[in-house]
Amino acid sequence: MIIVSIIGPTMNDALGQMKASRRYADMLELRLDMIADPNISTLLSSAKMPCIATCRPEWEGGSFKGSEAQRIEILEAASLIGVEYVDIELNAGDVVQEFVRRRKETRVIVSLHVIEGALFSIDKAYKALTSVGADVVKLAYEAEDAGENILAFEFLEKAKQQRLKAVAIAMGEAGEASRLLYKKFGGWATYAAAETGSIAALGQISGSVLKKLYRADSLKPQTRVFGVIGNPLKQSKGTHLHNPLFQKAKMDAVYCKFPVADLDAFMNGVGTRLDGFSVTIPHKQNIMKYLDEIDPVAKTIGAVNTVVRRKNKLYGTNTDAPGALDAIEAVQPVKGKRVLVVGAGGAARAIAYEAKQRGAHVLIVNRTDKKAQVLAKEFGLEYVSLKQLERTEIDIIANATSVGMVPDVNESPLPKALLKGKVVFDAVYNPPLTKLLQDAKSVGAKTISGTEMYLNQAAMQSVLYTGKKADKKFMKRILMAV
Ligand code: NAP
Repeated sequence: MIIVSIIGPTMNDALGQMKASRRYADMLELRLDMIADPNISTLLSSAKMPCIATCRPEWEGGSFKGSEAQRIEILEAASLIGVEYVDIELNAGDVVQEFVRRRKETRVIVSLHVIEGALFSIDKAYKALTSVGADVVKLAYEAEDAGENILAFEFLEKAKQQRLKAVAIAMGEAGEASRLLYKKFGGWATYAAAETGSIAALGQISGSVLKKLYRADSLKPQTRVFGVIGNPLKQSKGTHLHNPLFQKAKMDAVYCKFPVADLDAFMNGVGTRLDGFSVTIPHKQNIMKYLDEIDPVAKTIGAVNTVVRRKNKLYGTNTDAPGALDAIEAVQPVKGKRVLVVGAGGAARAIAYEAKQRGAHVLIVNRTDKKAQVLAKEFGLEYVSLKQLERTEIDIIANATSVGMVPDVNESPLPKALLKGKVVFDAVYNPPLTKLLQDAKSVGAKTISGTEMYLNQAAMQSVLYTGKKADKKFMKRILMAV
């Protein structure tokens, strides 16, 4: 069930939000603390679906500034008018028991909002919330890291075992998975933002995105869970690609974002529940110690960007390397060519290794010379310094540094004069047309965008996740639209 929060701030805004959100909501939460002078009768008669009356006090993270007596009066009025649910805070005192004892048509949600940074125990929170005898228990807490979603999952699993209706939400961007996966873990409902206006709680997603992109209300306990782990993930487009690909492959699976700082905590908790995941900066190297098996090429490159669970064992591979070279070779085969790889990080290792495997003579240059020298020695490549570049014969240039990536879109790793007559590939895909590629085009060089590499590596990931061929045209259309 998707509950859309109606937050005003005016009655007109609230009525507009109800209208715009109706298609995506199974129930509405009327945030009577956020709507100025709320007319409860008008709101209830306009809702045309069951409603929850919530009047969150400031001491529990809400906006209600009046006295406790006034607050309770508002909730009682809503109950008298016939609202289906009232939400009352566990910490509101004896009045909670009063609501539970006197409930007739209106059912009671008892809620606990753990404020930022406060330590709490799931067992204690669960025990306290379930001791009241409410119809639904609701826990919300702020998550700083995606690993903390495990608390919500465990809370829901406990409630499911006891056949209790429960909601558990990890607030904030890191807690997004708890909002999407509630049904997988037996939750009663999730809360969503209205289609218009702002959000009621950090990390809230709109009902339309929950329903259309993530199919959140159709997930089942057996739905397979995939995602991307990295930090930061704001720019990540993986959810937009892999969720539609699952739907196209008729696979009961969902793909979420997991912004992870503490990899160890994540892999020991949420990671154990995943069927597969993409790995991005900064975890491509560190993830390797959590895997049961690693593809020999990924091992040599020293980076894994894709993990799948097979027979409960985690298997890691690297789709960046073939992804980049397939993109380059769609324009210019590399066999016998002199390929300059710029950079000495993870992407550079992948591109240099694969280019050499495909018969190129690979040269390596990097801002920090020492790293380029070490990599050249390790893979048997030719090291060049930045100063030597002008006098070096090069056919293909592959930028594998992050130079030119948003927000530094006016930067390029190489001078324009060096690009003439070359084929120029940029691993950076945000923006799709980097300064390096613009310069290359302006001197008549052939160019290849990082979006081609991104598409190739994502298509290979999709094959590993779904077992079916990925439709690259379909993927490209999506990528162009997001
Ligand atoms: P990484 O391991 O952190 O390596 C970063 C590289 O960039 C290093 O060689 C670093 O040089 C160099 N660098 C950073 N800032 C620089 C600057 N201001 N001037 C000169 N060099 C600089 O990162 P990575 O994982 O290899 O990723 C590199 C880029 O590839 C990123 O933009 C990433 O988004 C992109 N990428 C794209 C795809 C795709 O599908 N298109 C896939 C993977 C990666 P030092 O050694 O001197 O620090």
